[in-house]
Amino acid sequence: MSAISVRGVWVEFGDQIVIENLNLDIASGSFVSVVGPSGCGKSTFLRLVLGQDRPTRGALLLDGRPLPDEPDADRGVVFQRYSVFPHLTVLGNVLAAYELGQSRFAARLFGAKRRAAIEQADELIASVGLAPHRAKYPSALSGGMQQRLAIAQALAKNPKVLLLDEPFGALDPGTRAQMHALLKPLWARLGMTVIMVTHDLKEAFGLGTRVIAFDKTRHDPQAPGRFGARVTYDLDLTRDGPVPV
Ligand code: ADP
Ligand code: MG
Repeated sequence: MSAISVRGVWVEFGDQIVIENLNLDIASGSFVSVVGPSGCGKSTFLRLVLGQDRPTRGALLLDGRPLPDEPDADRGVVFQRYSVFPHLTVLGNVLAAYELGQSRFAARLFGAKRRAAIEQADELIASVGLAPHRAKYPSALSGGMQQRLAIAQALAKNPKVLLLDEPFGALDPGTRAQMHALLKPLWARLGMTVIMVTHDLKEAFGLGTRVIAFDKTRHDPQAPGRFGARVTYDLDLTRDGPVPV
C-alpha cells in the first residue's frame, strides 16, 4: 500500500514551471530522502504533501484518498528553522501539538484526558532526550535541543507522515550525528512514513531506505522557468541496485 501517491503533478508559479509531471509512489513506512540542488523544488514538493501548496495539474493521494486542503494531524513537519512557540515551555509546546492531534480545533484537554496527554507528551520529550528540560522555554535551549523539541512536537500529532525540510542543516556536525542516532530508531519504532529533504548525502543515504534526486534536467537560458524539476534518480536502498525511473 502506498502511503503517498503523486500522479502527474505540475506546479507552476506564473509562467515558471517548478515541478514538471511528477509521478511517485511512496510506500507506507519507508524513509525517503530527497536531494537536489537549491531551488529545484524540494521544499515545494514537501509543501504539496503537507497541503500548503496545491498542484496546478495532477493529484496527490494519502492512503488512497485525496489530500485534505489544509495541513492536518496526519502530516507532521519540521523545518530547518522551525517555529516552536516561544511563550510555551518544552512540555507546553508538545502538549499543544498533542491537543491539535486530538482535535483539529486544538481544544484544551481537561481532567483525566489532560493527565493522559501529559503522560504521552512526557514520553515523547524523554524519547528525544529533553526530559531534564521539560519546564524550560525554547530560548533557554541550544539549537540541537530546539530541533529535538520540533521533532517531539511533530510526533505529538501522531502523524502518518513526517516531513522534514533540511531539519539538521543549521546544526554542527556533532549535533547532527546525535540527531541521526535519535531519528532512525524513532522512525523504526513508530513505523511512520518519513520524507526528508537534505543537502547532506551521508544523511540521505544513512537514514533513507530510498533516495530520490530532483533536478532541472533541462534548462533553457532564453526562458529560465520553462522546464521544471524532474526525478533524475530514484534508488531503493532496500534492494540491490538502482531502480529505473
Ligand atoms: P528548494 O527547496 O529545492 O531549494 P523550492 O521548492 O524552495 O526549492 O523552490 C523551487 C522554485 O520555486 C524556486 O525557483 C522558487 O523561486 C520557486 N518558488 C517557490 N515557491 C514560490 C512561490 N510561492 N512563488 C513563486 N515562486 C516560488
Ligand atoms: Mg528548500
